[in-house]
Amino acid sequence: MGFELLVPENKDELFTLMAESNYYLLAGGTDLFVKIEKDLINPDRILDLTNVIEGPKLEDKADKVRISATATHGELAGSPLINREFPLLAESAESVGGVQLRNMATVGGNICNASPSADTLIALYALDASLKLESRNGSRTLPIDEFIKSPGETDLGRGEFLKSITIPKLSGNYRHFFNKVGRRNALDISVCSMGFVLKETDGKIEDIRISFGAVAPKIVRPDSVENYLKGKKLTRKVLPEAKDLLKNEISPISDIRGSAEYRKQVAVRSLEEVVNS
Ligand SMILES: Cc1cc2nc3c(=O)[nH]c(=O)nc-3n(C[C@H](O)[C@H](O)[C@H](O)COP(=O)(O)OP(=O)(O)OC[C@H]3O[C@@H](n4cnc5c(N)ncnc54)[C@H](O)[C@@H]3O)c2cc1C
Repeated sequence: MGFELLVPENKDELFTLMAESNYYLLAGGTDLFVKIEKDLINPDRILDLTNVIEGPKLEDKADKVRISATATHGELAGSPLINREFPLLAESAESVGGVQLRNMATVGGNICNASPSADTLIALYALDASLKLESRNGSRTLPIDEFIKSPGETDLGRGEFLKSITIPKLSGNYRHFFNKVGRRNALDISVCSMGFVLKETDGKIEDIRISFGAVAPKIVRPDSVENYLKGKKLTRKVLPEAKDLLKNEISPISDIRGSAEYRKQVAVRSLEEVVNS
């Protein structure tokens, strides 16, 4: 294991270095260095993004919020803007690791690592986030679900980096719910996690977005459950059908953190909790 760690001064320098060698980009390093340590990857070069992604960490636009890929989980969790507009994102960021980790680890790293149990992905999927990628040839924007391909795999091309995340603001009175079940309460990767945003008008569901983590190769937005619940009252009556639909949308695996059957039960239980809340 041997690599060169370089800190490009600006984007131009980064693009030149990216064209040259087998590289990995570095943000907080909390996933990257674990993978190197475990011999899962073996880069010749590591290119630190610190000086490359400029501008504010958070920008409050009229109808959206732009988040720099280098914003840390601590910055998201502690931001009055994020807490006001997207409590689900603030809560999911607060649930990542311990305080030291949250001050190092970035939301861009959480996205690009593409783990099915990544906590901020739960919120970003439910909030219909889009991502801006930049390369020497310009930039492109795509929805988060198109960017994440499978565990550890993304649509990030060679020579590209993730610059920012944009989330449309929610208009009206939304309820937010985040649930993360791990083997212990803190500092753990989830066995199953769930995010939920809901708007009711005259007691009926007008808009609902649900996302589940660690129950399939990618984060799941169970369309059939969302479509079934729209226009209905959120009462116990909807539970049997919603639970059946959900079971058909998820395909968890068994691993050291939990069995597939346990994960299914936790997912269904999370849905029950929302209805009972
Ligand atoms: C002890 C411990 C506890 C953890 N607990 C949790 C937890 O509770 N929940 C959770 O979700 N995760 C957890 N993690 C995983 C990790 O901390 C997060 O995924 C974190 O957000 C990664 O961010 P980072 O900035 O450290 O990324 P890095 O390690 O720097 O990078 C991760 C990957 O993304 C790429 N990358 C980073 N930034 C960019 C960019 N802007 N453009 C393109 N590619 C980029 C890197 O090349 C690398 O492949 C934990 C990790 C540890 C070690």
